Amino acid sequence: MSLAEMVAALLAGPQPIPIVTAGNTVLRRPAEPYDGQLGDDLLSELIEAMRVCMHEAPGVGLAAPQIGIPLQIAVLEDPATIPPELAAYRHRYPLDFRVIVNPRYTAVGTERAAFYEGCLSVPGYQAVVDRPASVLLECLDENGTAVQEQFDGWSARIVQHETDHLGGTLYLDKALTRSLTDNDQYTSLWGGLPITVARSGLGF
Ligand code: ZN
Repeated sequence: MSLAEMVAALLAGPQPIPIVTAGNTVLRRPAEPYDGQLGDDLLSELIEAMRVCMHEAPGVGLAAPQIGIPLQIAVLEDPATIPPELAAYRHRYPLDFRVIVNPRYTAVGTERAAFYEGCLSVPGYQAVVDRPASVLLECLDENGTAVQEQFDGWSARIVQHETDHLGGTLYLDKALTRSLTDNDQYTSLWGGLPITVARSGLGF
């Protein structure tokens, strides 16, 4: 089956498209660079279906392999609807909807940021990932236009997380594994607190 046929079959199936979870090989293989395999109309339909899937989940990013499509395409959008003091602590501010195609990122400067993050493909858990605080993203947009843009704070984390998916990497590969917490424990013990509290409690 060609990639275009795979996408057409997915779009003809139930919506929102079900999310593929960890253990599926599609999440572990580098995705193919997008080079027009779908054509403009099918690409637009795929992007819209990914946007709906991300909103319904809900999540702040979704990479094509997470719906079973091994192409280097991801969607990002973060309304950042969290309390202002938490937003300030995480440097988490709204990120408008955008599509990234064939993305690469490089760290800008040496500053790092360690925060809990989760993944729609690893439901029920969160873990701390220490990442570059700022990155330069190089990619194409959905129209094939080259983009070079710096991202900081939580937006930089989303860019890295989704770009990593397209290389077959899950956030757990980079996580401080002793920080792993299920969502219930996170909510009752660590949510909204400085990361140092979880660090001393869990020993990471
Ligand atoms: Zn993810």
